[in-house]
Amino acid sequence: MADPIPPTAEPASIEITDSHSAAVGGTPVRRALPQHDRRTVGAWCFADHIGPVDVTDPVAAGIGPHPHIGLQTVTWLIDGELRHRDSLGSDQVIRPGQLNLMTAGAGIAHAEEWHGERGRYHGIQLWVAQPDATRHGDPAFEHHASLPMVDLDSATATVLVGSLEGASSPARRDTDHLGYDLALRAGTTVVPLAGSAEHALIVLEGTVQIGANVLMPGHLGYLEPGRDEVPVGVDDTARAMLIGGLPCEARLSMWWNFVARDHDEITAAQVDWNAHAERFGSVTSVLDRIDAPPVPWRTT
Ligand code: MN
Repeated sequence: MADPIPPTAEPASIEITDSHSAAVGGTPVRRALPQHDRRTVGAWCFADHIGPVDVTDPVAAGIGPHPHIGLQTVTWLIDGELRHRDSLGSDQVIRPGQLNLMTAGAGIAHAEEWHGERGRYHGIQLWVAQPDATRHGDPAFEHHASLPMVDLDSATATVLVGSLEGASSPARRDTDHLGYDLALRAGTTVVPLAGSAEHALIVLEGTVQIGANVLMPGHLGYLEPGRDEVPVGVDDTARAMLIGGLPCEARLSMWWNFVARDHDEITAAQVDWNAHAERFGSVTSVLDRIDAPPVPWRTT
């Protein structure tokens, strides 16, 4: 058993925000990012905790062909299987413990189909805002069937992005962001942090305690820069994502499936997608293509 948090430890100052409930296709999600007062954590600009839900309609659990620009999608499953197909020709089933990382750059389209019949669906999809150096560049897709794992006090960390205790993820990284899955057992686990980065914990299962704060699914716990570690206490078992990075300097403009820097870039992407422009290519899918809604601002 791990030692309890020593009483001399500096109390962890954590800002807890409630995710909002949304639905993506027919699937309920808890949207942890963006929030009104917390748009980003490092370059992480979007986080949907998906389910857990019992899938009874495979079509409704999928998302038909749709576009992205300016972001990377990070898909991580706890239960269920998805089939990813994109305009690069990628066709990849993803299972729990595996990482799908899609880089949109100037434009990509993909479909995320439920793979199989009925079953439990539980996971998280996050987006990373690409920096100016790559956001107008080529799209790309990576699948990582296995990732480095690190034993911490009472937890096993899987390194999705970045490094932890000398273990580095093979996943492409265009900024300094990091992401770990934490499978926590009873006890207190001291998770090393990057001192100059900001971090956040998104609880996926169970209950975790940081200082006097209790976090559950539906919570995002934000830790400001300047911490080298965070003690995470668990009574039973829990699962959480830890994300972090240097605070995002770019002024992001986000709408629908697009991350850019201003409305004009987004309007152009919206027009191009609905016009079936070459920019986004085409996707083969059993699901229907999703048209972009009208942009909510005046265009010239
Ligand atoms: Mn997508």
